[in-house]
Amino acid sequence: MTDHPLQDNPLLDFSGLPRFDMLTPADVQPAISTLLGRCRALIERQTADDLAATWTDFAAPLFDGFEQLSRAWGTVGHVHSVNDIPAWRDAYNGMLPEVARFYAEVGQNLQLFDKYKAIAASNGYARLSVAQQRIVDHEIRDFRLSGAELAAKDKPRFQAIAEELAQLSAKFSENLLDATNAFAEMLSDESELAGLPDDARQAAREAAERDGKSGWKFTLHMPSYLPVMQYADSRRLRAVMYRAYATRAAEFGAAELDNTPLIRRILELRREQAQLLGYQNFAEVSLVPKMAASVPQVLGFLRDLAVKARPFAEQDIADLRAFARSELGLDHIEAWDIAYVSEKLLQARYAFSEHEVKQYFTEDKVLSGLITVIETLFGVRIQPDQAPLWHPDVRFYRIETPAGELIGQFYLDLYARETKRGGAWMDEAISRRKRPEVSPTLTRDDIQKPVAYLNCNFSRPVCDQDGKLRPATFTHDDVITLFHETGHGLHHLLTRVDEIGVAGIHGVEWDAVELPSQFMENYCWEWSVLQKMSAHIDTGEPLPRALFDKMLAAKNFQSGLQTLRQVEFSLFDLLLHSDFDPAAGRSVLELLDEVRREVAVFIPPEWHRFPNSFAHIFAGGYGAGYYSYKWAEVLSADCYGAFEETGNPFDQATGQRFLNEILSTGGSRSAIDNFRAFRGREPQVDALLRHRGMSAAQNLEDLEHAHHHRPAP
Ligand SMILES: [Zn+2]
Repeated sequence: MTDHPLQDNPLLDFSGLPRFDMLTPADVQPAISTLLGRCRALIERQTADDLAATWTDFAAPLFDGFEQLSRAWGTVGHVHSVNDIPAWRDAYNGMLPEVARFYAEVGQNLQLFDKYKAIAASNGYARLSVAQQRIVDHEIRDFRLSGAELAAKDKPRFQAIAEELAQLSAKFSENLLDATNAFAEMLSDESELAGLPDDARQAAREAAERDGKSGWKFTLHMPSYLPVMQYADSRRLRAVMYRAYATRAAEFGAAELDNTPLIRRILELRREQAQLLGYQNFAEVSLVPKMAASVPQVLGFLRDLAVKARPFAEQDIADLRAFARSELGLDHIEAWDIAYVSEKLLQARYAFSEHEVKQYFTEDKVLSGLITVIETLFGVRIQPDQAPLWHPDVRFYRIETPAGELIGQFYLDLYARETKRGGAWMDEAISRRKRPEVSPTLTRDDIQKPVAYLNCNFSRPVCDQDGKLRPATFTHDDVITLFHETGHGLHHLLTRVDEIGVAGIHGVEWDAVELPSQFMENYCWEWSVLQKMSAHIDTGEPLPRALFDKMLAAKNFQSGLQTLRQVEFSLFDLLLHSDFDPAAGRSVLELLDEVRREVAVFIPPEWHRFPNSFAHIFAGGYGAGYYSYKWAEVLSADCYGAFEETGNPFDQATGQRFLNEILSTGGSRSAIDNFRAFRGREPQVDALLRHRGMSAAQNLEDLEHAHHHRPAP
């Protein structure tokens, strides 16, 4: 390991692509410390009283300086994610607190806030570009929401609330985890394992062995809990596990792990915090930086979806009951039977083997299919390119105009490795922007081109019995994941915005950021695409149509029930943070009952304590934001609907419009304006319902080319 002198530190070289060929963990501390020092000195200069509050004098140099820190730290974070060996973990963790402290300081720096307000109030504001205005507006908004404008007497209280809320959220998660760990069901009678797959039995056996016991141990962690609920023939076992799971962190267990008082306190404090900021409730605050315009708008959206999905959910439940009665001899379905009966019904109707499907998605075929989709849709070219890499498995590509002009570049790191973080994600290596040193006479070369990381955890190629290397094969879920992350990547890469603060995904509303990624997933369900994107690893044959039809039917299985479930959670979350006063007598559970009476088709037992484990809204960032899952799905489905209406999923004009109005504008315009410009109207839920097999409309039959057949019962 070499120690580079500061002038040769690869993290301080911003002239081009990250220097993965030179970078060592020893480079991190000196480079990041240097950049933090430079940024602090820059803030000092930029907040001087005599510095003019203009874009050119104040904001632009600030973004230039901050970009270096975020780029260098982004490179470190990336290597930490894809090569998490001890030396890199230490290097990353060693600087993480300092970097976090710096950004917290920036967020609380009222002198910065004053300068932004001065720009907004100046005559010059009107002459800024739309993107620049939007950046100034965002900065002011974020300072305000973090309490910068409160009266001096209210600030200590606001700060105290923020700290208490952070502690309560952490405690909520801890309680939930401890309560999850507190339960175990030990079995000694093997007959009670009937129905369970071998791997689930084996895991339960090993869990018991780790405790020094014989028999089988089942817990409330998903890999243990889920197979029991789906496969265990023992109704007693399912009932015991279900009840334990549904009552975690509630009054039935250890008092110190009960989340009930925490929920009440969190709701009180969020309400107080919102009122200090001048809003009526927390939901209003939550929606300020989001695409959704108002609480009534989101409520209307959710209720519309509930009404439209309801007949399909009722049919799903009726099918389930009929199947349970005729095939399983169950006259009455309990909550702990639903997953079990559903799994049996799914197998009976649409059984297919994941393994069989996987034989058709060979790596080269999938990648060339993906590239063809992007090239055809957006009129670009994608070519292999050269760059320093962090691992020999990584590939690198460039996106060009048909004339060969560079648009952006991306890394593709497909395979799982022991030192790589799990899951799949897109990250930014370099963002598009006007280079800082350029003159007002801007030429194309003065634009810094964006670069993205696309990371997955797919299985790598393996050798057959004869020692011959076989191509990697992917599951259909893997293919969907790849398209999803590529969608995020295209949002970053195809931007045409030159101001970094709103280029690509920067500044895009939180509830709209999944639009391009979910949009791209649609192509994985397009028959014409799949035919070309698949080739059996042995025979070279494309995916058979009959197999595809089963995959599609399984995708849409119980989509009515699933939709209502998501609506129930979203509606509960939103009402809890808007139309609910913890001090007014009505309990959280009473509100949940009301929501269920309105939307649910299957009501869980009265002892179910769903709120006590709803960590998304009480311990994660989803408070008054759970709706965004469905919201983004509606947007992406509706955008894809525009292609379906032309009868061609690759319609050139529609593809260009999607590029021009949504992908390339990114955060420089509000998401709803992007959407309206593309679609010519407000978002509608119909396309989502149709894609999920929930459409009764006959006149749409002609749109149902290939991929929207509701399976015959
Ligand atoms: Zn995503």
